[in-house]
Amino acid sequence: MANSQRRPIIAGNWKMFKTTPEAVAFTEALNKRVQGHATLPEILLCAPFTALTTVNDAIKKLNAPFAVAAQTMDHRDNGAFTGEISPLMLLDINVRWVLIGHSERRQYFNEIDDTVAAKTVAALKYGMTPVVCIGEELQEREAGLTDRVIEQQVRAVVDLIAPSELSKVVFAYEPVWAIGTGKVCEAEEANRVCKLIRTLIAEYGPAEQTRILYGGSVKPESTSALMSQSDIDGGLVGGASLDPDTFFAIIEQACLVKA
Ligand code: PEP
Repeated sequence: MANSQRRPIIAGNWKMFKTTPEAVAFTEALNKRVQGHATLPEILLCAPFTALTTVNDAIKKLNAPFAVAAQTMDHRDNGAFTGEISPLMLLDINVRWVLIGHSERRQYFNEIDDTVAAKTVAALKYGMTPVVCIGEELQEREAGLTDRVIEQQVRAVVDLIAPSELSKVVFAYEPVWAIGTGKVCEAEEANRVCKLIRTLIAEYGPAEQTRILYGGSVKPESTSALMSQSDIDGGLVGGASLDPDTFFAIIEQACLVKA
């Protein structure tokens, strides 16, 4: 059983999938599934920028127990940065959650620890909740460098954060070799790394309230083992979040072990 003081989060990262009608259909379908469930985790729909407003409107209309999250943002308020979206722009459309430093951003869009840290600081400055993604690559794991990589990624962020803000950051441990590959990290090993993350945060201030998620090929079948770990406070789900039935099955499993 997880620490009951930390409300679990199940976040669906849709990546570059779903047009606005598809996003609304998903939101309606998922809302039907969650009816009658009293103790739900926080449920985030990380929609593409183009669907954020539409999904937010659907959530409001349905009074659905979900929140939208952006999949990235720039750390600056505004400026000549063609194609970028700023925290002010997200707040303007009532988006208060944002993924930061997803491994696909690091891999394809040159995001590095410094930009991830700057974006986290920017999110906190505007009262948004950053979900900071960290994780080692396969060759790093095979070289025995997992803990060193995690330490470097965690310190880059928490070095810039006041102790009083540590509980406002959500971390997602996402081993890169497990993302979109079908290879899920063993629950005990995922928990060991999540515990390491908490121990590192604790060097800077209170860490007991900080929520740490696991991500990497989470499926309904693997949810229960992962979510029953002491330091895993929820899941960041990619491929399995695209279908409302599968995503709901993950939510349901999480409810069973976290309730
Ligand atoms: C992700 O996008 O963060 C992710 C973990 O993807 P998947 O669940 O498909 O591995």
